[in-house]
Amino acid sequence: MTTAKAAVQGLLGRLFFRDTTVTHAEDVGRRFRRLVLSGPALRGVEWTPGDKLQIFLPDAGTRTYTPLRWDASTGETELLAYLHGDTPGARWARTVRAGAALQIFGPRSSLVVGGPSPAVMFGDETSLALARANGEPGRTVLEVSEPEETQGALDALGLRGVRLVTRRADDAHREELVDAVAQALQAHPGAPLVLSGRAAAIQGVRQGLKARGTAAPALKTRAYWAPGKVGMD
Ligand SMILES: Cc1cc2nc3c(=O)[nH]c(=O)nc-3n(C[C@H](O)[C@H](O)[C@H](O)COP(=O)(O)OP(=O)(O)OC[C@H]3O[C@@H](n4cnc5c(N)ncnc54)[C@H](O)[C@@H]3O)c2cc1C
Repeated sequence: MTTAKAAVQGLLGRLFFRDTTVTHAEDVGRRFRRLVLSGPALRGVEWTPGDKLQIFLPDAGTRTYTPLRWDASTGETELLAYLHGDTPGARWARTVRAGAALQIFGPRSSLVVGGPSPAVMFGDETSLALARANGEPGRTVLEVSEPEETQGALDALGLRGVRLVTRRADDAHREELVDAVAQALQAHPGAPLVLSGRAAAIQGVRQGLKARGTAAPALKTRAYWAPGKVGMD
């Protein structure tokens, strides 16, 4: 059913959204899908790695993703969607085929990573494009439900040196996460800390680091999803 929010976004879309076409859709294992979007409206666009992009799903409203790359000369961008369940964004990503028309909003600023001072990064399956933007090995820790699936996606992206911690019920893996992030901060003194992914995990890592007196010179956080919340951006 079309929600009121989706209807308003549909109206606004005629003014602000960019029209694009899915030109390539490819499974990356069982849990991820790589999607290429193309079109003249993507040409000449300014994009910074870590920016967000919202895709408009007519029955559900917008869902937020992170471009892996943006070619402003050819008008092409690429997303990696995590197929976490049977929800509008995941369903769309799982079933969309090359040739499908799509409206998008953005790119817009979200988290800035990489560049001259790469961050130490925490995230999850939704943070792979951000991890790629951050670059260097040994700086990223991800909590994930199925490590072998995420490792397959990391390999497909050519991303090395990412520490995967298995997500457990009741956040029983929290200390392991805090250990892993603290170790990465110790190995990269002065690096900023960027926390993304599941809201409660971000909070747990923050609190755990604080309790240990482990400080990072700069901290940026952005919750990408939370149980029960819909379409966070
Ligand atoms: C700035 C930003 C960048 C993002 N970049 C990416 C990206 O590049 N790739 C990507 O895959 N996602 C990314 N996300 C996360 C993505 O937008 C959310 O997971 C979103 O909820 C997916 O929409 P949906 O319709 O599948 O689920 P929704 O309808 O929005 O959510 C329904 C329910 O599904 C559950 N849920 C949502 N996400 C997850 C999850 N990851 N794991 C388990 N359960 C979940 C929650 O219980 C939620 O209440 C990003 C989010 C933000 C804010």
